[in-house]
Amino acid sequence: MSRAESEDDHFIRGRWRQRGELWAFEPDEERDVQAIRAQQHWVILDGYWGERAELVLDRNRQWRKVRFEPTDAIKLEGWTTQGTQPELSDREIVESGWDHEHCAICWETIGTGEHATGYLSPPETWVCHTCYGEFVERRSLGFISKTPDGDGPPSG
Ligand SMILES: [Zn+2]
Repeated sequence: MSRAESEDDHFIRGRWRQRGELWAFEPDEERDVQAIRAQQHWVILDGYWGERAELVLDRNRQWRKVRFEPTDAIKLEGWTTQGTQPELSDREIVESGWDHEHCAICWETIGTGEHATGYLSPPETWVCHTCYGEFVERRSLGFISKTPDGDGPPSG
């Protein structure tokens, strides 16, 4: 998936297809062809960065500063199969087991130590203070050039 973004924050989703030596961008919505032609300059984002760019630029998102509160988690010990229906076995509730979230932009851990609070956009998108101030508030896509290899969050 690819996304192109213009200066007025308009996103067009589509796919790249190879035609001979050329790559053609085909928007998911056919009517977007006109919009693409109307604008000379587009920023191309892949799916991963496109999602983050959308969350920064989306004017309909509500953000509020929230202290992360741990919630109970369910620990699964294993699966057993009975007939054709897989069935859960040995469920264990871990009190306050869900004890952190990650910043959607930089993957900072939210919910521990100095990052006890973060910015939450319901239902469950979190960003850290740094990313909120640098990117969300300023509606800046500066984080994209910050990471040369945009192939996903670090594990952990
Ligand atoms: Zn962050």
